[in-house]
Amino acid sequence: MRSKNSIYPRLIFVDEASIKDEITQRVLGALPDAEVRYVSDVKDPILTYSDAASEHEKFTDGKRVLFLTRHKGSWLKSCPGTSSHVCCNLFIVNPGEGCPLDCTYCYLQSYLKKNPTLKLYTNTSDLFKELEELFIASPNRLFRVGTGELIDSLVWDDLTASSIDFISFFSKFKNAVLEFKTKDNGVSNILKAKDINAGNIVVSWSVNAKTVTTLDEKNTASLDERLEAARDVAEAGYRVGFHFDPVVHFNGWESEYTETINKVFKSVPKEKLAWVSISTLRYKPELQTMMKHRFPESKLPFGEQLLSEDSKLRYIQPIRFKLTRFIWDKIKEKDADVPVYMCMETSAAWREIAGGAPAAGSELREIFSRNVKLPVLMG
Ligand code: SF4
Repeated sequence: MRSKNSIYPRLIFVDEASIKDEITQRVLGALPDAEVRYVSDVKDPILTYSDAASEHEKFTDGKRVLFLTRHKGSWLKSCPGTSSHVCCNLFIVNPGEGCPLDCTYCYLQSYLKKNPTLKLYTNTSDLFKELEELFIASPNRLFRVGTGELIDSLVWDDLTASSIDFISFFSKFKNAVLEFKTKDNGVSNILKAKDINAGNIVVSWSVNAKTVTTLDEKNTASLDERLEAARDVAEAGYRVGFHFDPVVHFNGWESEYTETINKVFKSVPKEKLAWVSISTLRYKPELQTMMKHRFPESKLPFGEQLLSEDSKLRYIQPIRFKLTRFIWDKIKEKDADVPVYMCMETSAAWREIAGGAPAAGSELREIFSRNVKLPVLMG
């Protein structure tokens, strides 16, 4: 197991309302050497306590400071998707916000630049209560829920063990699927919970070409470490997903992405693959400034990129389609039945690369349908 000492928080703020919560106790118990400060009525501690002058320095400072606090308001949200693009109907809940890993392209650098302290929400019992009411109220609706939108789903799991709580909760519902999404390899709690997995849990890894993982995914588990973890959870009976995100254009991309695809199929048996997604590099212009400040060596903010309809910089269409089609075809060569989809792509891309809209492909039913039951998952 790789050492995560360098990413653990050196300073933990605890909101007074969170002191007695189970998650707080677990985190403080797991990090006995961290400095702990108790606060009340503070929105984002690092804004007050860091003396860094610029937003990008404050954001970097925030990567080593954790705030244990309570989430207020509704937990479940529809994935924001992106305008004028095909959406896969994912719901999201955020058990926290911010990530100690440090990918060059991470959109949180702009999305959370005004709230840079890492956060874990300690009132997860409220989260489960809200989901339970919703799942029971709409028994014929499929809820595919992800926890990896504003935080890596598993990066703190060795401190919180909350994956076990999630797996246990979802085991009660036939109309809900939970996706953990991560670039970490800490799956020991997932393995411990294998006997309560009811078949509706998918553990997904973001994967990439080795060059991207090595140069632009700082502090993450290596590709081989992620795939070892994927193999372990598949052997323990879970379904596994992979997200090629963001696919990057660089010299030698064909051979490196081919190598990654070969490794994926060597690690996880085809019948355990829940889905694979493909998304090329895209980001809002303000993120470009942050990337240039925080990762001056990176080549990601450069190249043939144009502002698209959704106000994000993307590769020009011929490059985007070439990258996506290459990976799509390589995966389908391995197994034509694996559900593959494009995340945040246009209808034109679906027509060009997949031959039609996503609903046309029956293997994509679980991903794109809103009103299906899932007899296949739970028997
Ligand atoms: S793992 Fe995900 S959330 Fe964490 S820094 Fe990388 S892109 Fe951002």
